[in-house]
Amino acid sequence: MRSKGREVYAILDSRLFAIADWQRATRSEVAPFQSDSLAGLAKLIGVDARNLAATVAAYNAACTGDPACFDATRCDGLAAGSNLEPPRSNWARAISAPPFLAWPLVGAVAYTFGGLATDNRARVLRGGAPIPGLYAAGEITGHFYATAPNAVSVLRAFVLGRIAGREAVVAALSETTLT
Ligand SMILES: Cc1cc2nc3c(=O)[nH]c(=O)nc-3n(C[C@H](O)[C@H](O)[C@H](O)COP(=O)(O)OP(=O)(O)OC[C@H]3O[C@@H](n4cnc5c(N)ncnc54)[C@H](O)[C@@H]3O)c2cc1C
Repeated sequence: MRSKGREVYAILDSRLFAIADWQRATRSEVAPFQSDSLAGLAKLIGVDARNLAATVAAYNAACTGDPACFDATRCDGLAAGSNLEPPRSNWARAISAPPFLAWPLVGAVAYTFGGLATDNRARVLRGGAPIPGLYAAGEITGHFYATAPNAVSVLRAFVLGRIAGREAVVAALSETTLT
């Protein structure tokens, strides 16, 4: 948030507040900007009011599904039009119920989904075979590749880090013994 010029805004409307437990989903430390009009919102966040109005209008026009089908608790299939880039597959409702909100966001890497392949001894693999003397643990191994259990990154980093250390010592000792 301190990185000036890198922030973007998620534009929402007041129907957010009707979603049960919406606070848990936002995970933000800062409050959104709020205004009763899109023009007022544009002024608060320093963007061109006509551009914001045109963007929201184009998005709203693509929201052709029945808003009564909206269900925040599952993938509800409420998709928005094919000419949106990227298209939305779920939860697409027109932004039309004031007050309008603009939530500041900055991009950051929270988790990795790909990285060095390792086995359960923390050995780095190439083509499925361990590379001698090379071990890895933590984010570099792409914690969430293929599966994403919540809140276990640090646990996995600690466990595999310890295993990597132990394996490296054993390998180093056997090298020393051999030479
Ligand atoms: C917002 C957020 C929320 C998260 N929430 C959770 C959670 O609830 N539970 C959970 O388990 N995990 C959570 N994680 C993930 C967890 O923080 C990481 O998986 C974990 O910290 C990874 O540890 P690591 O040691 O592999 O990597 P890092 O913590 O990234 O450590 C790598 C270190 O290497 C240093 N480094 C990089 N390049 C070099 C270099 N060339 N020379 C020397 N040093 C270098 C970096 O400065 C850094 O200190 C969260 C992450 C984020 C970003």
